[in-house]
Amino acid sequence: MLNKVFINISKLYSLAGGVRIHDALNDCAIYENAYMRVCDGKIVDVGYMCDLKIVDEVVIDLHNQIVIPGIVDAHSHLVFGGSRVNEYAMKIQGASYMDIYNAGGGIHSTVKATREASFEELYEQAKKHIYEMVACGVTTLEVKSGYGLNKETELKQLRVVKQLDKDLPIDIVSTFMPAHALPKGYTSYVYLDEMKDTVLPVVVEEQLAEYMDCFLEKGVFDCDESYHILKAGKEAGLKIKIHIDEIEDIGGTDVACALGATSVEHCMVTNGSSMDKLKDKGIVAVILPATSFNLCKEYANVSLMKEKGLIIALSNDFNPGSCPCTDSLWMARIASRGLRLTPNEVLSMMTINSAKAIDREDIIGSLECNKQADFVVMNCSSFDEVIANMMKNPITAVYKKGENILC
Ligand SMILES: [Zn+2]
Repeated sequence: MLNKVFINISKLYSLAGGVRIHDALNDCAIYENAYMRVCDGKIVDVGYMCDLKIVDEVVIDLHNQIVIPGIVDAHSHLVFGGSRVNEYAMKIQGASYMDIYNAGGGIHSTVKATREASFEELYEQAKKHIYEMVACGVTTLEVKSGYGLNKETELKQLRVVKQLDKDLPIDIVSTFMPAHALPKGYTSYVYLDEMKDTVLPVVVEEQLAEYMDCFLEKGVFDCDESYHILKAGKEAGLKIKIHIDEIEDIGGTDVACALGATSVEHCMVTNGSSMDKLKDKGIVAVILPATSFNLCKEYANVSLMKEKGLIIALSNDFNPGSCPCTDSLWMARIASRGLRLTPNEVLSMMTINSAKAIDREDIIGSLECNKQADFVVMNCSSFDEVIANMMKNPITAVYKKGENILC
């Protein structure tokens, strides 16, 4: 197969040089007037137009558009049944997540709808949402289960994820999240042991997940309960992610450190000493600003995280309740304004740093030799323009392994 060379890139945000912390977040390693050469789905050369020598290859002229790495969305609850739009009016009048949860709404209504939905219905709805995400530049997506809360439906969700990964051109990373909420009629350890003893072995046997996750939060699963289920996942060979500190910092960081977690996610109220522990262990903090925006809640203290040198990633948190949003560009705009981040910092956090949140920083997240040719072409002058503009989607092509997947 002939190589492809993409020419006349006005700004190529390469993000070369690895995961970024501190001031390096602002350095996107930009090439101006650049070209990029791709062979067999991988990047084999990046350079300046003045140095380009075209050989026997396919030339694709990008006509002075910009190129960024494919967006890595490291946190989603993509596969669900039903809709929760009817909660919006309650929420906007002040009902909290826990108010809705305790009233039997929220996640429980999604669990009911997900149990009732067929494999095909879940698959089709998720597929539609994936293509909305691709239209906003996403080329790799993490997806969690957790709307089944019983054996049959947790496995159904994970099998949908596996099938989507097989059928669609983006890469999907699967996470088993049985401890998303406590189903009605159970006490916590009875439920967790049922998941551990009857579902986890099937997840491992069928290779349905790479990670296990848990909603560690006051009123949901405490530190001991979370450790109990996550340790079983780790011993079965899964890597660990944990939802922590969305409402209260009850010590989730200690569980993450004890288990050598890859990431902790939300971190809206993580305190300074917890941040120090995350920094010491190199655990990625995945921040979800669109959720803060949608819940009218405070944003994570990213300025302190930056000061302390944490690895910070940004993701969308698409789900039917707290963040019904598939638009990563819109999330990026919220992140910049809500977290006071520059466009370059935002881009670092949603590409190379979010690749680290799914242990793929050696394969994706930047545009440099030997990495997968996952990138987004935008018809604008800079990524600053993308963020400064509140609405426009300037994407004209989304390449996955060197092929345009934008419908
Ligand atoms: Zn989540």
